[in-house]
Amino acid sequence: MNSIQILEKLISFDTVSSNSNLEIISYCEKILKDAGAEITLIKNTEETKANLFATIGPVDQPGIILSGHTDVVPVTNQKWKTNPFKLTEIDNKLYGRGTADMKSFVACALNAASKASSMNLKTPLHFSFSYDEEIGCVGVRSLIKMLKNSSINPLFCIVGEPTSMQVMSGHKGKVNASVLIKGKEAHSALTTKGLNSIYLASEFIQGIQSIQTNLINNSTHDNDFEVPYTTLQVGKIEGGVAVNIVPSSSSLLFEIRSLHSDDPNLILKDIKILSEKIVKSHINKFPDTEIEIKVTSQYPALNTMKNSDVISFLNGLTGNNSVEKVSFGTEGGLFSNELNIETAICGPGSMNQGHQPDEYIEKAQIDLCDQMLENLLNKLEKGL
Ligand SMILES: [Zn+2]
Repeated sequence: MNSIQILEKLISFDTVSSNSNLEIISYCEKILKDAGAEITLIKNTEETKANLFATIGPVDQPGIILSGHTDVVPVTNQKWKTNPFKLTEIDNKLYGRGTADMKSFVACALNAASKASSMNLKTPLHFSFSYDEEIGCVGVRSLIKMLKNSSINPLFCIVGEPTSMQVMSGHKGKVNASVLIKGKEAHSALTTKGLNSIYLASEFIQGIQSIQTNLINNSTHDNDFEVPYTTLQVGKIEGGVAVNIVPSSSSLLFEIRSLHSDDPNLILKDIKILSEKIVKSHINKFPDTEIEIKVTSQYPALNTMKNSDVISFLNGLTGNNSVEKVSFGTEGGLFSNELNIETAICGPGSMNQGHQPDEYIEKAQIDLCDQMLENLLNKLEKGL
């Protein structure tokens, strides 16, 4: 079996994050088991999803983790020219949901596992395949907790998100939050008897915008990123019932994408102060006034030094000396922060095609990834 044949199978599992990933995991498990790997599954409490951690080679030695996710984003409301869950080749491009983000890396990793079975690795190769990455790196946390409590002590972690096989040393951190805003309902002919929660939301949003302006003007910029500063954004707003009712409640969603140098918790603190100020100015007249902020998910920035060992190691494997940073987030920040493992991102395909209709990967990208992993296996066979 080659990587494309494995990819064909991986794409056929509809692993949109809301679905179970157990079938794809058991497919991965079979390949890894045949390759002689030691395998641990870490299931969610409902037992509908699982992370997989596997090791080929001497488990007591520090090794290399290949990390990826098994879930994909939905295809709802997207117009596809091919069946998104059937790998389709057109003009040397392979189409399907997850071809770029990021089942091709998982396929190449599984192919490398099969090759490793006939080798005698002195340094172990680990495989970390998680669920629910696309909804905020949710699944991988129980796997990281398992590693924290185990004697496994990996040297490097390679996250295979699509970077066109370029080595990436960092990404921003992210906080997702929901906000519930309560005013007071009234007949719209008597607006002064009510407190318009949409107006409160508008005040809150203006506050978010002024925090953003302050960050642009006063915080450190990192020009390795396309947007070189920490960003805040309101992505969804709801509220009100009818034009003749003063709306008593509204809600919104916002996110913070923070540079390593900006502490997102301090920004959240500023947002809490902002909401308290808004509530305080109305609470005497309208005692039910409330703004409730809930952080729904959060992962840290990845900030691996460009001169660190994992970067030169990966540059050696790809034969490409450039080091950049990616605009999207990964579980890399968690591996680095929680486990202190030197982590970098390098994988086949481009995020320009990720999350899009007609997502595809160039076949040449899969060849490059196979080559990189072959170079890795040769190093692991000699021992690091
Ligand atoms: Zn991804």
